[in-house]
Amino acid sequence: MREVIYKHALKNALDYGRADSKAVLGKVLAELPELRKKVNEIMPAVEEVVREVNSLPKEKLTEEIKKYEFIEKKEKRTELPELANAENVVLRFAPNPSGPLHIGHCRAAILNDEYAKRYKGKFILRLEDTDPARVDPQAYDAILHDLEWLGVSIHEIAIQSDRLDIYYEHAKKLIEIDAAYVCTCPQEEFRKLRNRSIACKCREISAEENLKRFAKMFRERKEGEAVVRVKTDLKLPDPAMRDFIILRITDEPHPRVNRRVYPLYNFSVAVDDHLMNVTHVLRGKDHIINTRKQEFIYDYFGWKKPEFIHYGLLKIEGLELSTSLMAKGIKEGIYSDWSDVRLGTLLAMKRRGIQPEAIRRAMLDVGIKDTDISFSWKNLYAYNGEIIEPKANRYFFVPSPRELLVEGCADKTALAPLHPDFPERGKRKLEIKAREGKTRIYISQQDFDALKEGEVVRLMEAFNVEILRVDNKAFAKFHSEALEEARRRRAKLIQWVPEENAKVRVIAPEGMIEGLGEVNLKNLRAGGIVQFERFGFVRVDEAGKDELVVYFAHK
Ligand code: GLU
Repeated sequence: MREVIYKHALKNALDYGRADSKAVLGKVLAELPELRKKVNEIMPAVEEVVREVNSLPKEKLTEEIKKYEFIEKKEKRTELPELANAENVVLRFAPNPSGPLHIGHCRAAILNDEYAKRYKGKFILRLEDTDPARVDPQAYDAILHDLEWLGVSIHEIAIQSDRLDIYYEHAKKLIEIDAAYVCTCPQEEFRKLRNRSIACKCREISAEENLKRFAKMFRERKEGEAVVRVKTDLKLPDPAMRDFIILRITDEPHPRVNRRVYPLYNFSVAVDDHLMNVTHVLRGKDHIINTRKQEFIYDYFGWKKPEFIHYGLLKIEGLELSTSLMAKGIKEGIYSDWSDVRLGTLLAMKRRGIQPEAIRRAMLDVGIKDTDISFSWKNLYAYNGEIIEPKANRYFFVPSPRELLVEGCADKTALAPLHPDFPERGKRKLEIKAREGKTRIYISQQDFDALKEGEVVRLMEAFNVEILRVDNKAFAKFHSEALEEARRRRAKLIQWVPEENAKVRVIAPEGMIEGLGEVNLKNLRAGGIVQFERFGFVRVDEAGKDELVVYFAHK
């Protein structure tokens, strides 16, 4: 216990210049909740440690805290397996810039980052933009911001549209060694032959002639008239593997370059992974066929292959993750923008108050096993809750409010702690104003529906009332003040807000919820994360207006 007090006292002293006993006590109780019942016993110990820590010079504090940071990091250590041949590790994350990143990208981004950090390797961000039809010019910057927010450390950035000449050079080399050819057969015709393992006429053309045909692709050929194919084996069991396309012509404009011949994914990836000295490629099992195709390129060039690691598929349900559907929905006005709460983008997560560290922990749990799994939002939310719970102050909020008229009561100022574990943060006030002994308060629809005539319920942090009648409003009379009385009667504790309150709109993936919150919510600023008691964590999105708009994170 002393160790825990000492650690928090050091941190508190470093954060605020001097450690404060109450603040330290709050942290200790948050870490060791079982001590809550013994506050009186541990307070003297806290005070003693705080006195000791406050007498230490700053250098000593910084030196001492290192031990504990080390311990915390060790506790959090991931259980990712070691990589084979982990020398001079170079990893890459290679998204297509067709939109901002979503939760589906996080496994590759975060696990590569973890390994890069573990092996002190290099981590390359490669933007794969060789399909002009699927490029969103804003995605380049958006992806960088997303990665920064995620806490991913990128050491080098490559953009494939800057490297087109490199791919042309490599295609030329393959043609020269008779490993690739320019195919001008109509696609349908080629497919029919290929499916019967028969070579098309272009395959037999000499390398010399093919080089000329290749040059012509850049000058005269129109979209769809010619492609470059790599020679695989026409007897391969999977027809899709037979002489697959490595370059094609398209007239689709590209936002960054003015070219017409573009490499296909498997070609540019193989060339880049080799030239960038990538040592380990982490990708999903859905890429196994791609890996096989890329291996043909490696073999023709005689390149050493990286370690290919194929992890199982990760099924992520509940939010929209298809970049093209998201883009379409935004265009059609179905979604407000990329941060619409129904989307699985990182922008939307951030807006809801999901912390990058929680996403990281959830992805570490997902790991790189080759079995297929479903993503657990529950797990992500549990991690997020651990991170934000101590920071989030608490407020009353009643969704779908209903009126409750109480008679026989006096004015009352109810005081509720901003956070029960951190008494030093103070209390918030809820003022009940009675006119001729009567007051109007609001409770949630759910609590309203459960009211029974004659029962006693406790309005949390205020007093107990006896329900007289439930109509389109509920009527009650003051019963008693003490919490003990409510406990004795096993009375329900219900949330409420007084007549003076704050309108709140909660935006959640499942829809919008309107309600009333305590008036103190009007002091919050946009960006803050708070807990609506018994409702869940929310991030304040718009403040300072008539209505507070918050985004729902989770329970
Ligand atoms: N651009 C590819 C993708 O996002 C990269 C996959 C890979 O080669 O690992 O699917």
